[in-house]
Amino acid sequence: QTQQRALRARAEIDLSALRANVRALRAHAPGSALMAVVKADAYGHGVLPCARAALQGGATWLGAALPEEALALREAGITAPLLCWLWTPGGPWREAVEAGIDVSVSGLWALDEAAAAARAAGRTARVQLKADSGLGRNGASPADWPELVAAARAAEAEGAVKVTGLWSHFACADEPGHPSIAAQLDSFRDLVAYGEKEGLDPEVRHIANSPATLTLPESHFDLVRTGIAVYGVSPSPEIGTPADFGLRPVMTLSASVALVKQVPGGHGVSYGHHYVTDGDTALGLVPLGYADGIPRHASGRGPVLVGGKRLRVAGRIAMDQFVVDLGPGEPGGRLLGEGAEAVLFGPGDRGEPTAEDWAEAAGTIGYEIVTRIGKRVPRVYL
Ligand code: PLP
Repeated sequence: QTQQRALRARAEIDLSALRANVRALRAHAPGSALMAVVKADAYGHGVLPCARAALQGGATWLGAALPEEALALREAGITAPLLCWLWTPGGPWREAVEAGIDVSVSGLWALDEAAAAARAAGRTARVQLKADSGLGRNGASPADWPELVAAARAAEAEGAVKVTGLWSHFACADEPGHPSIAAQLDSFRDLVAYGEKEGLDPEVRHIANSPATLTLPESHFDLVRTGIAVYGVSPSPEIGTPADFGLRPVMTLSASVALVKQVPGGHGVSYGHHYVTDGDTALGLVPLGYADGIPRHASGRGPVLVGGKRLRVAGRIAMDQFVVDLGPGEPGGRLLGEGAEAVLFGPGDRGEPTAEDWAEAAGTIGYEIVTRIGKRVPRVYL
């Protein structure tokens, strides 16, 4: 009989919450298919279990940024339609074409590489043309769209390529009412209409990310591409809390307190002594640090639930550890000891902070909090 070793720290991943989130998102966009975005190791949650759970919950597409991410999904036996969008010259186009992955194309060079890979493989490349409808990042500019569409039509005529999708991405969907949202929708409709007038017949047209899926029905088209909401994290405070949309946070990050020690008042804590104890107190050592993805910017501010009490990180977050001030304890009462659970974030219904709370403490977004939880932290799937 093997004894289960207690973990230093763990990120529990609640796959039933993930499945329920996908179902909830499908109800927000009932006329559209759902692509679960699983790039960056499923936003830090672990790509294969999350991809499978998303498909069980009703996603019919998966989305990845890098071709390597998409190929890893195919190598794991996942056969669902799959789009990947961040290509560089000389990338694994042929492997992607042979694996039946939809490849995103934002320019002539990429279309040429996709078509050449298809010819070499004796296959037809599934290509989705990406338009920059106003994000100002990836995608073909409206001025370059006619040339890209014409080249795609020529490659279709030759049989090297099939244009399966026309798509784009929002800049400010997480700021409801931002004027760029309506402008991008208008531009996207025009770019799609142009492509179809020129003879393209895509399977899917899509632009909506999580915030647009939650707040902008007119953006849903054939498919919504949801990432952060699948993991039950809010896209932004302006959009609302996950609970406002029937979503539940999937990741709970916790650690086992590694040391408790009594110190007197006036005791400096951690690098730089940015925290000094008020009086006699107990310090608890939490064995997580910026090497695990805990943002150093949240030093002195990051919230933690220990022994039912909401505390804040005391002083600097170091590479592997940080300290919380447990307080003097009840007179005559027992102090928390080593092995007590420190919960950094989770769904919030046990009084623990959320990823959004950490984002606020670190001056960032919930996306970055969950995505950066490092490889040293084991994912435990529930
Ligand atoms: N589509 C593209 C092109 C993306 O880069 C991303 C992620 O940033 C998404 C969709 C998913 O966005 P969100 O996580 O806001 O749903």
